[in-house]
Amino acid sequence: MRWSRIAAHWRILAALVAAMALSPLLGAADGPFADGVSMLCKLGGGLFINALKMLVMPLVASSLVAAVMGLGSGGDFGRLFGRLCFWVLTTSLAAALLGLALVDLIGPGRGGAAAAAAAGAARQSAPAGLFDVLLGIVPANPLAAAAGDHLLGVVFFSIVFGVFAARLPEAQAQAIAGLARAVFAAMIGMARWVLGFAPLGVFLLALDAFSVHGLGTLRQLAWYMLTVFAGLAAHALVVLPLLLVFVARRSPLRLWRAVAPAVLTAFSTASSKAALPITMEAMEGRALLSPRIARFVLPLSATVNMNGSALYECVAALFVAQLYGVPLGLSGQLLVVLVALLTTLGLSGMPGAGVIGLTTVLAAAGLPADGLALLLGVDRLLDMARTGVNVWGDACLALLVARNEPQQAQEDAAAAVPE
Ligand code: ASP
Repeated sequence: MRWSRIAAHWRILAALVAAMALSPLLGAADGPFADGVSMLCKLGGGLFINALKMLVMPLVASSLVAAVMGLGSGGDFGRLFGRLCFWVLTTSLAAALLGLALVDLIGPGRGGAAAAAAAGAARQSAPAGLFDVLLGIVPANPLAAAAGDHLLGVVFFSIVFGVFAARLPEAQAQAIAGLARAVFAAMIGMARWVLGFAPLGVFLLALDAFSVHGLGTLRQLAWYMLTVFAGLAAHALVVLPLLLVFVARRSPLRLWRAVAPAVLTAFSTASSKAALPITMEAMEGRALLSPRIARFVLPLSATVNMNGSALYECVAALFVAQLYGVPLGLSGQLLVVLVALLTTLGLSGMPGAGVIGLTTVLAAAGLPADGLALLLGVDRLLDMARTGVNVWGDACLALLVARNEPQQAQEDAAAAVPE
């Protein structure tokens, strides 16, 4: 079978497996050849990530403006927004509590005082406070917010802009809505083009990541990593599919087939923001969601919904508490959950963002920031896994929000594709 005929997710998966298989060779080699290969991976992989990221701001802004204007004043906007908030909090809370339960059960850090001592005195800079996250919701300068990658500010501005643009006289409103729709369509076209490079980009990124963060260095923290992986797997493979089947009444397999390229791209780039164009292309292209709903819900959920990161922050904070022998009672643990949830609302969707959230959680729970030094060494692989779950969570959330929406029901009936 010809390579180009194979479905995108299989091509990406094959690239990922090939990178995993080859990474020990690159990891073990040194000298100019290995350096050259590593440099090439960084360059090629970096170009791929940049190509995805260049789409994000125009995509988010045009998608939200078009969607908010399209939703009109019929109460659709408020209802969808309310549902979105409900499902973001519910799924993230479920993920955080799952992480908490597992880390209590497995206890990866218990009796780890020696490891804690080895963490050394590497102190982190002051945590990015919740205060700044809240303040950044309303951008003082929307162009600076876009240029500075502050997605939350761009989201806020675009929604408010869409609300007021819709109230302009008909001709003006039509012009703005038409422009937003056209920009959005062009961005989706570009996303399709970039997606064509995904197998190569993913291969280069994964080869580099696995050869640098090879499996040998991980032994010390194996139980901690296992706990995070187990939690992420349970959330992605059990909790979310159950919600899809019993609440959204949609087939998890069908959704997976559509969004697998986005999830695999998220996994290898460790950036849920970079995966957003691919998720949007998939959800629209496969007619899984009404475009009206997709264009509103997906950019928002990609910004504020991070199930994997919420779970990770809880496990990591409790792991540090166990490692340092700091007792955290029930109220301490619930505080960790609460702060983890709040921080994920403002995380940037970039590699390593969860660690920044974690510094806030540690500070809020009075846990030593030194613990981070240990965790950072193995963070890349965890970052990849939690980002994949973040993006899978976004796709599931969109179907949960769309459940019972009249628009969605009409389109489903019209499509009536047998499973
Ligand atoms: N890298 C993750 C993302 O982009 C966030 C995190 O580090 O937890 O979704």
